[in-house]
Formats: sequence, C-alpha cells, structure tokens
Amino acid sequence: MMKTMQPRIIPREEHGISRKQISPNALRTLYRLHDNGFIAYLAGGCVRDLLLERTPKDFDITTDAAPGQIKRLFRNCRLVGRRFRLAHLHFPNEILEVSTFRAAAPPDGEKTGETDHNQYPRHLKDEDGMVLRDNVFGTPEEDALRRDFTINALAYNIADFSVIDYSTGLSDLTQRLIRPIGDPFVRFTEDPVRMIRAVRFAASHDLVIEPAAWEILCELSSTITRAAPARLYEEMLKLFMLGSARPVFPLLEASGLLDALFLGLSKKLHGNGDLRKALQTNLECLDRLSRRGLPPSPALFLAALFGPGLEEEALARHRDGIPHQQALDAACAVFLEGFCKIVCIPGRVGGQLRRILAFQPLLHRMPPRRPSSLVSRPDFADAMSYLYMMAKTGEKDKTALEWWNLFLSEAPSAIPSEPPTDESPAKRRRKRRRRRRPAAQAAV
Ligand code: ATP
Ligand code: MG
Repeated sequence: MMKTMQPRIIPREEHGISRKQISPNALRTLYRLHDNGFIAYLAGGCVRDLLLERTPKDFDITTDAAPGQIKRLFRNCRLVGRRFRLAHLHFPNEILEVSTFRAAAPPDGEKTGETDHNQYPRHLKDEDGMVLRDNVFGTPEEDALRRDFTINALAYNIADFSVIDYSTGLSDLTQRLIRPIGDPFVRFTEDPVRMIRAVRFAASHDLVIEPAAWEILCELSSTITRAAPARLYEEMLKLFMLGSARPVFPLLEASGLLDALFLGLSKKLHGNGDLRKALQTNLECLDRLSRRGLPPSPALFLAALFGPGLEEEALARHRDGIPHQQALDAACAVFLEGFCKIVCIPGRVGGQLRRILAFQPLLHRMPPRRPSSLVSRPDFADAMSYLYMMAKTGEKDKTALEWWNLFLSEAPSAIPSEPPTDESPAKRRRKRRRRRRPAAQAAV
C-alpha cells in the first residue's frame, strides 16, 4: 500500500488559473459533480497547460463518483472501456472524459493477485516489468501518482478553486522540467511510450527532460519496440503532426528512439548532410501546415520522412529494368512490411503514401496531361504538398511546382470543393464533414 502524503495546496489567489479559461462544458460538469457531493477535479495535461498559459487540447475530469453514479448524473454520458470504465460526456462541440480516481500498479514484488469480477488480476506486469493491465479505483493521491510526469499530475479543485500538487509538479513547471514521478527506470519500463511522451512534451512545450531521467531514457530507448505497434502509430502521429515535428527530431535522434523506431532512416542520416537538410525542411513544412490549422495527413507525414528514400529505392529497381510504377510498389511494400513490425501503419495510409509518390511523375510531366482531372483526384493536395517539399529542399527542380501554382491560381474552378467518392450522395451527406485542405494551399 502506498504511504499517504500531504499534498501541497495552492489557494486561488496564488495561481493563475481562472474559470474563464476552462471550457463551459467542463465547468458545468465539475459543478454538477460537486453539487452532488462528489470530489471533482480538472486533472492532467489541461492543468499543466492552464498554468503555462497555453490553451489545453482537452479538459479531463477526475472524481470519486463511480462510473455508474456519473452515468446517472449526466444524460449525455456513455461509459467506455471494458475493464476500467471511463465516462464520456458528449456535447455538441466536445467530448469530455470523466474518470473515477484510479490506483497505480503496485511496485514489483508486491501482491498483484486482487481480482475483478471476471477473475482477471487487476494489476499485471510482464517479466520485464511492463504493465499489461492496470485497472483499479483509488484515492485522489494514487490517481495523481500513477501519472507519467510531475507536471501532468496536478489537479484543479472546483470546491475551492485551488491547485493540488502531490509531487513536485509546480516547482518542476517553474523550472520547466519534465520529471517522471518516482524512479525513471521503473516508470519508463512499466510503459515505454512514456519515453516518446517525454520528448514530445519537451519539444512542444519548450521544456527540458530532467538530466537523470534523460540518461535513463537514452539507456532504455531501444525498449520502445516493446510497446504495441498500434499504440506506437498513434504516438508517431502526435509526434509529427501537431506542429513540433522539427524540434522533436533532434531529441528522437539523440535519445536513440529514432534508431529504435526507424532503423533504416537513422542509418541513412549518418554522414548524409543533404538528406538531413532535406528532412529538416520537410519537417518544417509539416509544422507550418499544423500551425495554419491544416494538419498534415498521416500519409503526408510518412512521405515527408520516407518519401525521398523510397523514390531512390524505386529508381534503383527501375534502373534494373522494372517498370517505374511496379518498382515504386515494390519499394513501398518492402518498406511497409518491415516498418509495420514496429509501428503499425494502417493499410489505407500505406496505400495513400504509395499514391502520393506515384503521383509525382504525373505532376512533373510538362505540360501535364489533363491537369483538371489530376486536380480532382483525392490525393492531389498531399501530392502537391510533397512536390512543394521536394522543390524546397532542392531535391527536385521547381518547374513543375511553378506550373501548377500558376494553373491553380488561374483556374480556381478546377479545385474540387469535395473529394470525389464512390459512395452514394445520401451516404456522403450523413458523414461528418471534415475541413479539407484546399488544393491551392497545397504549397505549404
Ligand atoms: P496533450 O496536450 O497531448 O493532450 P496530455 O498530458 O493531456 O497532453 P493525454 O494523452 O491527453 O496527455 O493524457 C492525459 C493525462 O493522462 C496526462 O496528462 C497524464 O497525467 C496521464 N497519462 C497519459 N498517458 C500516460 C502514461 N502513458 N502513463 C501515465 N500517465 C499517463
Ligand atoms: Mg490531453
């Protein structure tokens, strides 16, 4: 059993969080829980971001109300998760996550045999100490201390508008430090994805990983491949598509995470200054798209990272006498098969990557054949962004880019307002519309 610690409570007058910064839905939810006699906190990344005067991506709420009690209080509640039940409150413009305080996995050696009603152990680690299962309700303190970093373990209490700190989150935030809660070796072993989260927060929030934790992260970086490939894909998207791809790259490289995740790429970069520069330019382009509110598609991020190498590979096969498209298909298939063992790329995204690259010769043909029909293809915007990146890095000459930019500016009617689809119009209407990157903005 974890020993109880007195938290540091920072009263309203001594911190900068104002209720005006909190989403009205989150605020109403906190009040409703509180008015019904439950503890209600904002918790995790949103408290960190509010203290740093950043806009939180989402507002997470923790409470001592059990999932069933939350469901009875909120009509818009859906319970999700098979073992650890979380409540999702659905509002027209956001989904709020409300979770019951949760306990940490006990340290190695402690009894882990408690079982839930299905007779599954609630805490389970593998032989190396990685947590396989971790689902039991706990106290507010346990809930804070099971989190990854001290700055992510702060809570905002709606009862008196105070901030609660069970570890050293506030002083670490002031010193701009990312520090795992507890022993970094244990915490990175329990969940290797925390290493990726550490470098992501360092890059996106301009923070520094605490030196002793950084050393251990470097030591353990090769164990990142023990995380589930599907989860690594999700983390990869967050690393490269949220606007800090460029600053995160050196941290990935220095820590050894790049080597573990994309072995081929890391090897190619050694001693190849041109490729390194091209990659940096591509990552800057991805970040610029994100900053403009047009986050790059997963396939474009893959093309930015791996496209030049794949094109080179395809060219080598083509020189051996294989037709160009076939050579490209083969190069993409070999790459995806190897990469998917570590990071699970969905088949659909792999297909889009191949099409972005296959599009390039059509864009480079001068003058292009039936340009308006090329514009209406679904991958046109991504293919243009890739063309732009390659022209900017000097990998390809700029003639094609200039031709297409002129064409699109003179014939905006050629730009489709909707991606073409084979689905019936009725089916299409039911789908939620997503903001589509206009082709004219393909040039990043
Ligand atoms: P972002 O701004 O990217 O959403 P975040 O800190 O809110 O950052 P989330 O993935 O939304 O990140 O997670 C919410 C909170 O859950 C975190 O702040 C942290 O307290 C906790 N958390 C998330 N992932 C882990 C993990 N792997 N191990 C321990 N705690 C975690
Ligand atoms: Mg979050």
